[in-house]
Amino acid sequence: EVVTRFAPSPTGYLHIGGARTALFNFLFARRYNGKFLVRIEDTDRERSTDAAVKAIFDGMSWLELFADEEPVFQFSRAERHREVANQLLESGHAYRDFLTAEETGVLRDEAKAGNTQFVSPWRDREPGVDDLSKPHTVRFRRPLDTAVVVDDAVQGTVRWDSAALDDLVILRSDGAPTYNLAVVVDDHDMGVTHVIRGDDHLNNAARQALIYDALGWTRPTFAHIPLIHGPDGAKLSKRHGAQAVHEYAEMGYLPEAMRNYLTRLGWAHGDDELFSDEQARQWFDLDGVGKAPARLDFDKLAHVNSHWIRLADDDRLAKMTLDAHLSRGHTLGPDDEARLQRAMPFVKDRAKTTLELADQTAFALKTRPLAIDDKGRGLLSGESGERIGRLRDRLKLFGSWDVFALDAELKAFAEEEGVGFGKIGPAVRTALTGGAASPDIAKTLAALGREEALGRLDDALQ
Ligand code: GLU
Repeated sequence: EVVTRFAPSPTGYLHIGGARTALFNFLFARRYNGKFLVRIEDTDRERSTDAAVKAIFDGMSWLELFADEEPVFQFSRAERHREVANQLLESGHAYRDFLTAEETGVLRDEAKAGNTQFVSPWRDREPGVDDLSKPHTVRFRRPLDTAVVVDDAVQGTVRWDSAALDDLVILRSDGAPTYNLAVVVDDHDMGVTHVIRGDDHLNNAARQALIYDALGWTRPTFAHIPLIHGPDGAKLSKRHGAQAVHEYAEMGYLPEAMRNYLTRLGWAHGDDELFSDEQARQWFDLDGVGKAPARLDFDKLAHVNSHWIRLADDDRLAKMTLDAHLSRGHTLGPDDEARLQRAMPFVKDRAKTTLELADQTAFALKTRPLAIDDKGRGLLSGESGERIGRLRDRLKLFGSWDVFALDAELKAFAEEEGVGFGKIGPAVRTALTGGAASPDIAKTLAALGREEALGRLDDALQ
């Protein structure tokens, strides 16, 4: 059975690189009917925070990436990590190093000056009985004369000369297990078969592979995916704009659009750009992951988002748009959600984000009486004002408030008045919206609803 995992360190929000790693692991598990697990790597007690754990879970649930089992917290497994370190000591694959940090520093500098590799003298020295009570680290005793070969599912075959690595500390002097040991033990114990993660961890794969081998455990398949770069090709950083998943939510991107976009970011299935979750689950595989870093492309993301907005349910979009209005300081009115629901079909074809949906529906949530400027007042006075009065009276008698019927009625009215609709449109729009952006007049009337629309016309003609 395929088992994948996402193993974030809880030191900050979930950024889009992490989200993509989670997504790839999730999709790969779905593709092979396997399991997707989450492990919170909170061994670094200084930098790990509960707020970050929450931010990561929030980001994942927004993206609807749910683990198939309860998450594992790495720190809680420290005892098990120590047990395995002892196993390595017993089998001779690890040794106790009694050098102090200072002594290590000195020897390291000397080695560097002499262009050699630092090796602790304790690698080949048996500690005496009285040594054992002294503080010490535990180091992995790497084989010196082998090539470490990892067949990476993305990077291909990668080789390291084991001598060029170092004897990794696996337990610190306070007994705390270090990252590379913890990852190996946890991945093994969780039954992880595929380690899909950023290629910034590629060198760790060499170290981890040696630990697997020393323990006689089967290595997982490694798949190191290139990191995401900014539009200019440089490593993604703050200056490229939003990095946190929650920022994309706030900017009005839909989770399904983010999933679609992030799946395509570094993975390809022919020329397909727009695809459903269902398709992604069927298509995703590691051979489609590219070796070159993918570039973030905000235009493409906007395009993908507009596609998913068009397909989204109007009620859901209305709720999201209402949230956007509320976070802009709008005070909730009793009819707001209904007006937004009615407006959605008229605006969703043109919006790239739900914030744009909010821009385009602001007219509907205004409260009566609307403020109308002098120019608008001009349109609503004299002959033109009288005409709008006749339109209002006619609409008051009009039973149906359906957009098609309204459209026909407006046309009939213009014809009767003997003017083109261009003569009427700006004045009606002013009365109905106070001059805000809105869809065409019939749609604007339909979105407002009968009572509100007629009320606004009344107000404007006072
Ligand atoms: N905790 C590591 C990180 O957040 C990932 C470790 C792994 O995936 O093996 O970068």
